[in-house]
Amino acid sequence: SVKILYKKHNSNLPKNMVKLLKIEIKERRVCFQPNILWKIMNIILFGAPGAGKGTQAKELIKKYEIPQISTGDILRGAIANKTPLGLEAKKLMDQGQLVSDEIVNGLVEARLQEADCEKGFILDGFPRTVAQAEELDKIMKKIGKEIDKVIALEVSDDEIIERITGRRVSKVTGKIYHIKYNPPVDEKLEDLEQRADDNEETVKKRLAVYNEQTAPVLDFYKKQNKVYEVDGAQGLENITKDIIEILEK
Ligand code: AMP
Repeated sequence: SVKILYKKHNSNLPKNMVKLLKIEIKERRVCFQPNILWKIMNIILFGAPGAGKGTQAKELIKKYEIPQISTGDILRGAIANKTPLGLEAKKLMDQGQLVSDEIVNGLVEARLQEADCEKGFILDGFPRTVAQAEELDKIMKKIGKEIDKVIALEVSDDEIIERITGRRVSKVTGKIYHIKYNPPVDEKLEDLEQRADDNEETVKKRLAVYNEQTAPVLDFYKKQNKVYEVDGAQGLENITKDIIEILEK
């Protein structure tokens, strides 16, 4: 089980268990927070734009109580707050281009060191280039962590275009919907908005960027034996079930 209910000051554990536990803690596979032992889950949700990374991340954060780190969300936050970073990023994002590696690497390095990442995190939309993946390895090493698994959501290009152009996000709750396949039940249609880069023209550009610059990141992690592929064209619940099965293996 992921959340092992073991109290830190419980002395009833057999000696060999205590020894194993010490090794697991030293190798940072588990951690106490505050006195419950958790299996650490440092994962990357990988896939084309619109593959369902954000939607699945929302399910996983509920189940595992670890944060989703979406560089896209962080950048959109910077745009909404009209920070210099946001203003610089907006032009590129609206064109479906990538923001520079230096900018996103810096954002992620700072974010990964926040306290809520101690028992794990879900990276969504990062790394998107091999250079970012290499830098992430360095950052992780520096802070004494390691990426455990890369979950790759597989969806065809045609399906991606259909999904993204129908995608809407609630201004109120941040929930992600699809006007045709997953319309809101409890929320008003006027509370939904379309992302500036979710139009057909920009989606095609984003897909091209994905195939050219981001897809090679998967080979980078395949060499480390960390990639687990999931059929992203199934229903939402089945995708979540497949991911959970992989994470708990
Ligand atoms: P997303 O919300 O993940 O689809 O990201 C939206 C946009 O933000 C992308 O099209 C890029 O312009 C930018 N972006 C997000 N994450 C990254 C990243 N890791 N590297 C470069 N640009 C990014």
